Amino acid sequence: MPKTKMNLTAALKKYFGFDKFKGDQEAIVQNVLDGKDTFVLMPTGGGKSLCYQLPSLLMDGTAIVISPLIALMKNQVDVISAMSEEGTAHYLNSSLNKAAIDQVKADVKEGRTKLLYVAPESLTKEENVEFLKQAKISFYAIDEAHCISEWGHDFRPEYRRIRPIINEIGNAPIIALTATATDKVRTDIKKNLGITDAVEFKSSFNRPNLYYEVRPKTKDVDKDIIKFIKQHPGKSGIIYCLSRKKVEELAEILRANDIKAQAYHAGLDSALRSQTQDDFLMEQIDVIVATIAFGMGIDKPDVRFVIHYDIPKSLEGYYQETGRAGRDGGEGLCITFYANKDLQKLDKFMEGKPVAEQDIGRQLLQETAAYAETSVCRRKMLLHYFGEIYDQDNCHNCDNCLHPKTKIEGKDQLVIVLNTVIALKENFRSDYVIDFIMGRETEDIIAHNHQEHDLFGAGEDEDEKLWNPVIRQALIAGYLKKDVENYGLLKITSAGKKFLKKPESFMIVEDKEFNDDYESTPEQEGGTSALDPVLNSMLKDLRKKVSKKMGRPPYVIFQDVSLEQMATDYPVNLEELKNIQGVGEGKVKQPYAQEFVDLIKRYCEENDITRQADLRVRTVAKKSMLKVKIIQGIDRQVALDDIANAQGLEFEELLDEVEAIVYSGTKLNIDYFLDEVMDEDHIDDIYDYFSESDTDSLEAAIDELGDECSEDEIRLVRIKFISEMAN
Ligand code: ADP
Ligand code: MG
Repeated sequence: MPKTKMNLTAALKKYFGFDKFKGDQEAIVQNVLDGKDTFVLMPTGGGKSLCYQLPSLLMDGTAIVISPLIALMKNQVDVISAMSEEGTAHYLNSSLNKAAIDQVKADVKEGRTKLLYVAPESLTKEENVEFLKQAKISFYAIDEAHCISEWGHDFRPEYRRIRPIINEIGNAPIIALTATATDKVRTDIKKNLGITDAVEFKSSFNRPNLYYEVRPKTKDVDKDIIKFIKQHPGKSGIIYCLSRKKVEELAEILRANDIKAQAYHAGLDSALRSQTQDDFLMEQIDVIVATIAFGMGIDKPDVRFVIHYDIPKSLEGYYQETGRAGRDGGEGLCITFYANKDLQKLDKFMEGKPVAEQDIGRQLLQETAAYAETSVCRRKMLLHYFGEIYDQDNCHNCDNCLHPKTKIEGKDQLVIVLNTVIALKENFRSDYVIDFIMGRETEDIIAHNHQEHDLFGAGEDEDEKLWNPVIRQALIAGYLKKDVENYGLLKITSAGKKFLKKPESFMIVEDKEFNDDYESTPEQEGGTSALDPVLNSMLKDLRKKVSKKMGRPPYVIFQDVSLEQMATDYPVNLEELKNIQGVGEGKVKQPYAQEFVDLIKRYCEENDITRQADLRVRTVAKKSMLKVKIIQGIDRQVALDDIANAQGLEFEELLDEVEAIVYSGTKLNIDYFLDEVMDEDHIDDIYDYFSESDTDSLEAAIDELGDECSEDEIRLVRIKFISEMAN
């Protein structure tokens, strides 16, 4: 036996200052020391780096660490170097100049370098290969190894060249590490690296402290996000968007709403990016709005929420990104805004790509859609995706478990699915299976002549929306599985065959309904997404009490929809109560009305709830940057003609924009400007005109006032009027 347990712990203490190993770390380190190939699957924050850093310090020669990100490398090297007097860690990448490279090479030659970080691009450079051939290599560590697989969320072609290069440089044991890998990706990695016999260490991927929720993405999504952030004041959070443009827009909108937010994406200047990162770590900024470029290597332990503005392209990406919340084991709220339309957009983006890549991309998207739309426990879905069984009935920490949907019997449907999979010789994917069950004569079906099959259309009487949940839940229950080699082909398991022999009850939940087109959802919707369940149940209790006292049925007091809207909008006085659906003048006069608003008021105060009415959310109809800039300018009382100049607009064009803003419901105060450019009498005349007129038409106003006032003046005062009266 090489190293004993005793001195591994001592070494851990000596080099890292930690008292004990986390999870499988010790066994992993031992395995590397024993010279065996190692495969490590450990969630983000689990402590993967130590698994190769510690053995490298204890072994002769230099360990080569292949890592995808230059920024990460520098960071890790700094950490290691700080622990030891000698120069034990170095990196080799395109950011170094010739002199620095020579220094690194000298250190490696003299055996001073224990850890050498290289990017795959640098590793494959001929001159580096030649040099490394002469070095003594202790082992190779491949960090973020999922980059090897096209089935991962972050595929990098140059990772595929690692094995041939290792052969050239000289063989040594390999340790591959990743935070996310499905069966498929895991198989890919091992095959590609030629380490199919590697000892595998897999930690559970369950993160019990993370709360998962998927909300419908409505046109009020910005408002929903602002509201969410205001309900968690001072907390650190990350919001992921898919496009850089959206990142910048949303960051602007958040700032316009007094939220300390910054944008982060790969298109920004690198100095600015590292400044933003630092500000986030130092809590100068609360919220980072970012593309997926942000996060790898971010080690802020107390990120309290991760919001996905757009649905991610894969569940692996989703897991990785949400994984950045609550690394300290504390609260971590993971909220995703989902609209089917976003998926269609992503699907479209893939059209230009090679067919094989499109196919992979689409299947990953389908998995994400399944996750978003399901009513099954999200933790169960997620862990199942990563090949882990979660057998608790209720995780108590996801939206689906907190608000469970009624189950329905799916026995007969499962029988149909299983029989179909067999009939199709286990050779098709779920969308094909569904087409077959529904009796759709698609091109593909006809090409296989399957429309002639006896079972064709066996489930055509059912709602087509039922089949996806049946198949997915059959996968989770283990009656079906997806083939690892030919990803996506549905196979029946022995449990599935047993079920067919003697079918029993199979309770399922139907999927959730998501709107397809959030941009055209009516304003009213989305309210449900912000329903406060605690308040709602308190209101129901109060209703029960009142109903008993008055001897009238509860629905006569207030209907459910009214209570729900109260638990969404938080009316705190009778005036506001009138805006609630189903509450008219008469109801407000009822003696109990006051009790309800009092309860809501107390609740808001006790729970620090920022009400929508208080928020005055600054979103604009078409959330263009231009409008946001204009609103900010007006807030800072910049003269309107200066704003127009700064934005390269004619004054009339600026007025068009400002009108659009106030007409879409945002209040703007332009008095500072009116007072400067108009005399009071004119303002009053025009204002009075609009107060009395039954139209806001500009033509009509010009007819009436055109002799004394200019068109611009009329428009300016009309803006003031609309803003004050209508908004
Ligand atoms: P991963 O690469 O798996 O995401 P890291 O290697 O970056 O995780 O480690 C995450 C954090 O855990 C780091 O701050 C690291 O210092 C800390 N850590 C690792 N091992 C231990 C240990 N045995 N005891 C305490 N902290 C540890
Ligand atoms: Mg890591």
